[in-house]
Amino acid sequence: MTRALIIGSGIAGPVLAVALKKVGIDAVIYERGSRDDDRRGAWISFQANGMDALRAVGLAEPIEDIGYPVDDIGFVNGKGRSLGRLPMAARRPDGQTSVMMPRVDLYNALADQATERGVAVEYGKEFVSADYTTDGVRARFADGSTAEGDFLVGADGIHSRVRTAIDPEAAPPRYVPVLNTGGYIPGLTVDAPDREFVMQFGTRAFFAWMNTPDGGTVWFSNPPMKDEPAKGVLSGMSDEDWRGWLRELMAGDAGPAEVILDRAPAPLTGWTTYDMPVVKNWHDARGRMVLIGDAAHATAPSAGQGAAMSLEDAVILTQCLRDCPDTTSAFETFVSLRRERVEKIVEHGRRGSAQKAAGPIGRVIRDLMLPLIFRRAARDDGRSMMWLQGHHIDFEQPVVPVTPVLQK
Ligand SMILES: Cc1cc2nc3c(=O)[nH]c(=O)nc-3n(C[C@H](O)[C@H](O)[C@H](O)COP(=O)(O)OP(=O)(O)OC[C@H]3O[C@@H](n4cnc5c(N)ncnc54)[C@H](O)[C@@H]3O)c2cc1C
Repeated sequence: MTRALIIGSGIAGPVLAVALKKVGIDAVIYERGSRDDDRRGAWISFQANGMDALRAVGLAEPIEDIGYPVDDIGFVNGKGRSLGRLPMAARRPDGQTSVMMPRVDLYNALADQATERGVAVEYGKEFVSADYTTDGVRARFADGSTAEGDFLVGADGIHSRVRTAIDPEAAPPRYVPVLNTGGYIPGLTVDAPDREFVMQFGTRAFFAWMNTPDGGTVWFSNPPMKDEPAKGVLSGMSDEDWRGWLRELMAGDAGPAEVILDRAPAPLTGWTTYDMPVVKNWHDARGRMVLIGDAAHATAPSAGQGAAMSLEDAVILTQCLRDCPDTTSAFETFVSLRRERVEKIVEHGRRGSAQKAAGPIGRVIRDLMLPLIFRRAARDDGRSMMWLQGHHIDFEQPVVPVTPVLQK
């Protein structure tokens, strides 16, 4: 039986393992962290196309069980004036909407689903390098152990080591000029419509909140930061530093930022944001290693699509492995089906982040333009979102292999 080595038990890794099982490929997942590690970005939402990819391989229900549906995003400016509202579900025939959930629950649920289907998930295994065997590939881990398989998939996120194993010259992630902070506050509800994430283009920072059905509030903020902070600067900031800075940024703006910052559990922390616009080589020339998810094409969180893209990748790569004559052809076919879409979404995320970090003149233009854009989106009844959220995968549908072209 064909054996796959999957590096990373984030979002793409376990879903790929489950999908591969369906087509008769055995997989083992190697994860450098431990099961209940804290995850950056405490909450995450899967837009409708991400849920669609999960449904294609029978994983939508368990994830809906741990999440909350989100119908709309409402945008307001610093004064609290509405700039418009975007439906979170394009006019999909199946009516699928977005689902939001705690990130740690999501990672554990996906890993559990894989384990229940007989996939081994090995924690504490940090991939460091790979070499070729006579008819496959060998992964080497930081603890000195190795594992052999027919092919290896890098689902190891934006700072992927598999990416550099495939191409040592691969470009590094690109800095996006907004930071991230946020979390969940139990026992606090704020003024917001049900099932709506409210996002505020504040005078000095972007701030967002949503009530959860269990009586809590999810929130995040993206303070602008033009230049990438030096190593250690953010980790050196205390809870007090974060709270004080965010209060200053949000001072004078309408909305619940103040109460959220008073009630958010300590310690507040924050992270830099990156994206991965173009990764030249998604796979090696021998057809033994391939990248999926953020390792191949990370989008800034502003797009709210990184996870959904990873899920689409996992399912479509599996179809390619099922329907193509060999792994090289499968990887080429996978790239041909995915590259254009994901790179368009990375640029979409970049533009969203630029709006969050707009200067005084940019803010005026943005606040004039956004209502027009949202009005147009409302008039076309979600059709303008179909390219993004309307994506549908029919898992049984065969893919047509492209002729393999060796990479330079
Ligand atoms: C603050 C924030 C908020 C976000 N919000 C959203 C959102 O709401 N919606 C959305 O769609 N996307 C969102 N994203 C993007 C989303 O998190 C990513 O696109 C998604 O997690 C990518 O999935 P992945 O499986 O490719 O990588 P990851 O989820 O990053 O998983 C990679 C896994 O590989 C492991 N790993 C890394 N290196 C190694 C190694 N050398 N050896 C072994 N294991 C390794 C990691 O520990 C991790 O478990 C957000 C991102 C951030 C930073």
